[in-house]
Amino acid sequence: MILFTLPGYVETAIQTLNDAGHQAYTVGGAVRNALLNRPVHDYDLTTDATPEEMQQIFSAYRTIPTGIRHGTLTVLIDQVPLEITTFRIDTSYQDHRHPDAVVFTRTLKEDCARRDFTINAMCYSPKEGLIDYYGGMDDLNARIIRTVGNPEERFTEDALRILRALRLAAELNFKIEQETSKALLDQCSTLSCIAAERIDAEFLRMLKAEHCAPILKQYRSVIEVFLPQLSSATDEQWNHACSLIAASECEEGERLAILFEETGCAEQASECLSSMKVSSLFANTVLDLLNHADTPVKDRCDVRRLMHTLKAPFAMYADFRSVIDPTVEKKNLLLYRGKILRDQDVLQLNQLALNGNDLKDAGYTGKLIATALDFALNGVMGDKVINRKENLMAYLKTNGF
Ligand code: ATP
Ligand code: MG
Repeated sequence: MILFTLPGYVETAIQTLNDAGHQAYTVGGAVRNALLNRPVHDYDLTTDATPEEMQQIFSAYRTIPTGIRHGTLTVLIDQVPLEITTFRIDTSYQDHRHPDAVVFTRTLKEDCARRDFTINAMCYSPKEGLIDYYGGMDDLNARIIRTVGNPEERFTEDALRILRALRLAAELNFKIEQETSKALLDQCSTLSCIAAERIDAEFLRMLKAEHCAPILKQYRSVIEVFLPQLSSATDEQWNHACSLIAASECEEGERLAILFEETGCAEQASECLSSMKVSSLFANTVLDLLNHADTPVKDRCDVRRLMHTLKAPFAMYADFRSVIDPTVEKKNLLLYRGKILRDQDVLQLNQLALNGNDLKDAGYTGKLIATALDFALNGVMGDKVINRKENLMAYLKTNGF
């Protein structure tokens, strides 16, 4: 029998349910990742106890009834929130995303049947070991993503599973089984029924995944359902973007910028990002990388000017730039930045030995003050003048200010 070590709070929850005469198992990603020796970041529990029964059984604990209509109760054990869901059958989906009714069941096998992929439908309890009704272990060994049951039906029920298949394949470096692959390609247009936020969560996780590039290459048509602007790219551009993504850091914002840049869609990036409804911080980072795609970076002066305007994290930019531009070496950019920070080179107006009041005293007025200060800052960053008040004033005069 396969035995895992479960965290104390998970064992407590299973034991508490067992003591009350109920079945309880950890299920899904935790079982899959434990079998693959991958880190487990959250545990989902499944039980034959109804939500009302769970509330009784866990009355000594703090519980949060957030998903109670769908059978999910969150229980706080040792300060850790744990989601416990009643075995359920999802019946008939009219809209490709929500079951019309959730029916609770006392049969574990039925609960496993409504799960998306065989590798996600395995359960484990310390008492019974691994329970695998749908061949999850075989697929895990063969490194295959396969739906539980008929793939066409399963994707028709919930189109988000299409993207979950891609995301899992990219994270685990698995292949998508042939029938599953065919069905998801045939039905990918139904992804348009899914809320942007749910698409983003899966898509961005996919982009961040270590093995994202081959999936992105093979399943271009799926991506174009929610980013139709990218369909103007040629196959050559798309494939090139994928190979650059494979060479980049596993960072979703950077990879999205590479995709826009290399498919010739940088102009449409802003529109794409607003349709995706990502956070403004994330969108601004991607746009900032793209805005600096051609910024000169050949010497220390250039890198100062870059640091002055760049809002994206510098290390991300350095990787992005070196990936899209073979003439730029990431390590040189990082070296320049290191020297600039070490020597406290002037990068911002507040480091300038001249301020607005100095210019007012010298008779400058209105908008000219800001323009002159910017000009002076640029001069210092470009090593055209040293950062001393007299020098800066003289520099402004000789340049017509
Ligand atoms: P990870 O935690 O790494 O994202 P996970 O497999 O645990 O992976 P969750 O989104 O936490 O993913 O879902 C938990 C489990 O619920 C899944 O393993 C799967 O069994 C089931 N599940 C999640 N989403 C769906 C879905 N759209 N359709 C069917 N089953 C699903
Ligand atoms: Mg999970």
